[in-house]
Amino acid sequence: MSQTIKYYQFKGILLSEGWLTPGFVGVDEVGNIQYISDVRPESVAIEAVHGYALPGFQNAHSHAFQYAMAGMAEKHAAGSKDDFWSWREAMYHCALSLDPDQVEAVAAMLYAEMLRKGYTHVAEFHYLHHDKNGQTYSNLAEMGERLVAAAKTAGIKITLIPVFYQKGGFGQEPQPRQRRFISSTVDEYFHLLDDSATIVADNAHATLGFSVHSLRAVDARDIVSTFEQGPKNIPFHLHAAEQLKEVSDCLAHLKQRPVEWLLNNLPVDDRFHIVHCTHMTDDETIELAKSGANAVLCPGTEGNLGDGIFNLTTFARHEGSWSIGTDSHISLNPLEDLRWLDYAQRFTTHKRNTFDDGASILIQKTLLAGRKAMGTIPANYFAIGNSFDAVVYNAKAPLLAQADINHLLPAILYTSDSGDTLGTLVQGKWIVKNQHHARAERITSSFLQAVKRLAL
Ligand code: ZN
Repeated sequence: MSQTIKYYQFKGILLSEGWLTPGFVGVDEVGNIQYISDVRPESVAIEAVHGYALPGFQNAHSHAFQYAMAGMAEKHAAGSKDDFWSWREAMYHCALSLDPDQVEAVAAMLYAEMLRKGYTHVAEFHYLHHDKNGQTYSNLAEMGERLVAAAKTAGIKITLIPVFYQKGGFGQEPQPRQRRFISSTVDEYFHLLDDSATIVADNAHATLGFSVHSLRAVDARDIVSTFEQGPKNIPFHLHAAEQLKEVSDCLAHLKQRPVEWLLNNLPVDDRFHIVHCTHMTDDETIELAKSGANAVLCPGTEGNLGDGIFNLTTFARHEGSWSIGTDSHISLNPLEDLRWLDYAQRFTTHKRNTFDDGASILIQKTLLAGRKAMGTIPANYFAIGNSFDAVVYNAKAPLLAQADINHLLPAILYTSDSGDTLGTLVQGKWIVKNQHHARAERITSSFLQAVKRLAL
C-alpha cells in the first residue's frame, strides 16, 4: 500500500553542505523526510512556503520552572549587591512555591514560546523532584512526567534529564530551601532515573539523559560513581565553572578547578555536555576542546546573571563543540543567543572575525552538538528518513529579500528577530504558523492562572 506523502516547497532549505534552492520536501505520515530535492515532484499537491527553512534548534539547557520568574528579578534595590547568589535566593523561593499543576502549566507555556522562536527540541535539566515539604511524590518521577506532558501539549520534543542534587555546597549538607531537589545517595538517584525512564518509554516525543547538578552539589566520589554506573548510551549533563566563587570553592575543596577536575577524574568525551564552563584557564579551554565534550553555552542567562564570558575564540580555534541553552529563559530567541556568543567575543578581542565564516560555523556547529546533547538525533539533519523539524524565516523580510545566496545565512543570523519567522514544523507538521501556536489560547490561559496563584 502506498503511503501518503505531504509535500512542501520552500524558497530555500539549509543542508549541511549549503542551501538547496528551491527546496522541495516530502514527509510521510509520521513526519519523516521521504523526498528532498531542488526538483519539483510531478503530479502532486505542494504547499508553497515563501520562506527559508533552517533545521529546528535544540535548546540544550532548560530549567522550565524558572520561566515563572523570568523578568521578575530585575528591580535592583539601591546600594544592594545583586549577583548570581542573590538571584539564586529568588529562584529558590520560586522553586518552593510551585505545585505539579503549576509546573506543567508554566512548562507548556515556555515550550510553546520556544517553538514560536524556532526551537523544536528541549533538554530539560530537571531537579525540582519532590513536594513542597521535600517528601517524594507517590510517583517518584511525578514532576518529570508533568514536564513530558507539557512538552506534548506544546508539541516540542523533550530530552528529560533528571538531575542528581545532593549537597548544599562543597562538603556541605543541603539547606532546607533545597529540599525539593535532593537525592541523598547514588542509589536513590538511580531509582528516580529508572522511574523517569519508564515515563519516557511511554512517550514517543521524549528521550532520557542523566546528570549530576554540579561539583558543588554532589560529592566528588558520587559524581564518579554516578557516571561509571550510569547508562552508557545516553548523554550526561552537568553544570561547571559558572561562577568565580564556585571555582574558588572548588579549588579550596578539591584542590583543582572544576573543569580541570572533570578532565582529570572522568573519561570526558562527546557524551559529556558541560553547561557554562565560563571560567577556564587557556589550558582547560584547549583540553576541553580536544576531549570532544560539548560546552553548553547559555549566553542570555550568563549575561543576565553576570556570570562572565566563555572563551569561545580559543575553544573554537581548537575544534571545540558547543550547543546553546536558554537556562533561566530570560531570552528565548536562538538567533539572539548566537549573536550574543559572537558579539561577546568581538567586545573582548576588538575583532569582528570570531570565526572564518561566522554564520555558517555558528549555526552548523550549534545544531550538530545540540542534536548530540539530545541523545538520539542523527548528526545529519534534513536527510531521507529523518524527522522533518524546521523553523522557517520569511523570505519577504526586507533584509532577507535583498540578500543573495552568499549572504542569506548571515542575514538571517545577524538581522532576524522572532517576528521574521513564518512558523515552526515538528515531525512534518506546522506547530506554529504565522506566529500563532495552535493551542496558544488554552496554554496561555493555564499559564496565567498558574502564575497568578504564585504571587512571586
Ligand atoms: Zn542551569
